[in-house]
Amino acid sequence: MGVHGLFSPSAMSQKPSADISRPSASRTGRGVRPPAAKRSLGQNFLVDSCVARRIVSAADVTPDDTVIEIGPGRGALTSHLAMVARRLIAIELDDELAPRLREKYATADNVEIVHADAREVQAEALLGPGESYKLVANLPYYAANPIVRKFLAANPAPSVMVFMVQREVGRSMAAQPGDMSLLSVMIQVYGTAKIAFSVPPKAFRPAPKITSAVVRIDVYPKPALDLDRHERFIEFAAAGFRAPRKQLRNSLKTGLGATADEVDSLLASAGIDPKRRPATLSIEEWGGLYELWDSFAESGRGAPSIDA
Ligand code: SAM
Repeated sequence: MGVHGLFSPSAMSQKPSADISRPSASRTGRGVRPPAAKRSLGQNFLVDSCVARRIVSAADVTPDDTVIEIGPGRGALTSHLAMVARRLIAIELDDELAPRLREKYATADNVEIVHADAREVQAEALLGPGESYKLVANLPYYAANPIVRKFLAANPAPSVMVFMVQREVGRSMAAQPGDMSLLSVMIQVYGTAKIAFSVPPKAFRPAPKITSAVVRIDVYPKPALDLDRHERFIEFAAAGFRAPRKQLRNSLKTGLGATADEVDSLLASAGIDPKRRPATLSIEEWGGLYELWDSFAESGRGAPSIDA
């Protein structure tokens, strides 16, 4: 594991050579074929360069930007990012692809390949003091949620995240009140999320069974809630979504293990109609409800603990 190819000013004029998805024998010294796609690592490689360009453009990458790319794979996005970004740090877990990428970008001074699990990496250790960054990725679907949540909660967090996920997951991340889920709440505490565009299975090899979507999150400078209490807030929201199709009062009663009186008094204090469904609450309403519940607990006025 390690980092190489540290930034130098000459990198801005550096033109990376072609995509490594079809490496030549002379370039890799390892034969013509790239390693077969590994399903265990969520390897559905992007083969549509038009989609790759749209992803990079959705992130508004400029020559002033540092970009962290998760899962560069065979380099479908990497080459486009390296052409624009001031500094590109690409984190790849695959033991075969990481050395190939290193070899490929050995002379590109603005590109660093980090052979690591993105779920374990500390963004701070990769960046200079005060260095801001954008995150761009075609994420491995098996680890998309933990990776997105890890970077949203990181210190520093990226200013913008643009990534591909399963379309249903993307829709849930970007949902508005009426369609909110626990995932929407978890994501939108950190920033505003929207779907940039959808991508059909034929844009990948091997082709997945489902449609994908590119999501853009504009991350708030500070999360909408105090980070110290973030995990507790998520536990509270999870309790609220325990019975998502039921009215909020019943869902909270089940999730919190509370009495009907306790939940009614909580909702009345927050000015929230107990008949609403959990999916209709906005982030602000979840935040206000949590603050009240927390203050009830602090003052010992009968707010129950979360029923795990
Ligand atoms: N960016 C490439 C593209 O668009 O064709 C590859 C995308 S593929 C869906 C996901 C990539 O993430 C693969 O290269 C895979 O090896 C890598 N990967 C899987 N799990 C990872 C993890 N935990 N940390 C870093 N990279 C990971």
